[in-house]
Amino acid sequence: MSIKGKCLCGAVRYEVEKDAVEVGSCHCGMCRAWTGGINLSFEAKPGEIAFAGEEMIEAFASSDWAERAFCRRCGSSLFYRSKADGTMHVAAGSLESWEGARFIGEIYIDAKPALYALAGDHKRMTEAEFLASIGMAG
Ligand SMILES: [Zn+2]
Ligand SMILES: [Zn+2]
Repeated sequence: MSIKGKCLCGAVRYEVEKDAVEVGSCHCGMCRAWTGGINLSFEAKPGEIAFAGEEMIEAFASSDWAERAFCRRCGSSLFYRSKADGTMHVAAGSLESWEGARFIGEIYIDAKPALYALAGDHKRMTEAEFLASIGMAG
């Protein structure tokens, strides 16, 4: 299945080859500042996604291990990309359709502001639990 998305102004467009979109949320302070609200994103491996308007993509090195990309014209958040293997977490707000998208879980739940909560029964991990899960504990 081909899933399409674009930034607000349409200068950057993409197509992802996936059976289904699985959306997750990270509540860390960096994701909050980057998105201007709640980070909702889905994973895409380098070979799964093709961009058009790539010259309009600007990336900011937000840490030693990742960068965060946005549209140079409209400023829409586009994706977080790991420098190690190129895995991206694409901003779900850029999807043209959310039909069939499934919510799979939240990380940094202990950093989530109290005024909102994502409904439903799904996996929720604290910062410590998440870091331990990727082998970066303590
Ligand atoms: Zn744009
Ligand atoms: Zn985050």
